[in-house]
Amino acid sequence: MPVYTLPELTYDYAALEPHISARIMELHHSKHHAAYVAGANTALEQMEEARTNNSFGAINKFEKDLAFHLGGHINHSIFWTNLSPDSEGRPSGELAAAIDEFFGSFDAFKAHFSAASLGIQGSGWGILSWDPVGSRLIIQQLFDQQANTAQGTVPLLQLDMWEHAFYLDYQNVKADYVAAFWNIVNWGNVEQRFAAARTHSAGVLLLS
Ligand code: MN
Repeated sequence: MPVYTLPELTYDYAALEPHISARIMELHHSKHHAAYVAGANTALEQMEEARTNNSFGAINKFEKDLAFHLGGHINHSIFWTNLSPDSEGRPSGELAAAIDEFFGSFDAFKAHFSAASLGIQGSGWGILSWDPVGSRLIIQQLFDQQANTAQGTVPLLQLDMWEHAFYLDYQNVKADYVAAFWNIVNWGNVEQRFAAARTHSAGVLLLS
């Protein structure tokens, strides 16, 4: 039995049009995400085989493969739930208050998140995260699927900036893709993640 499985989407591939096309969603979910799931399972199997044979000559490759593919699986699993054809348009409640507190205003947050996403050199993700050490929201640039973010931070809202996420629809005009993203954010999902992160992540790193 594989450890990791491809999650079903809660909306149709065409549901996010015109902001993200059905063709991109189909390829992105059924091909790209599925490949990360398969890659993560393969890495686990290869590690098990290495332990069985007490043969760790390729362990660096297996560890890197696991980080990359499991990263891809987790990132996309979050991303799909961060999107909705029925976006509320903007956050509300405690998340809205926290965004004002830590970024100045919702517009300043959007400008910062958009700039961080557009500024990624190569493939990666723009991420709004909860930092349990500083007890604050932060914006991070995740490189590829697994690098350049702090350990223990909890992702709340992610934007896929890999070319496979937008190129068929937007070609090289990344700014239009990021602008369209704001029309399909599932703020209810982000608020749910925010509440869970604040409740469950406190003290998880045991720094003192
Ligand atoms: Mn992707």
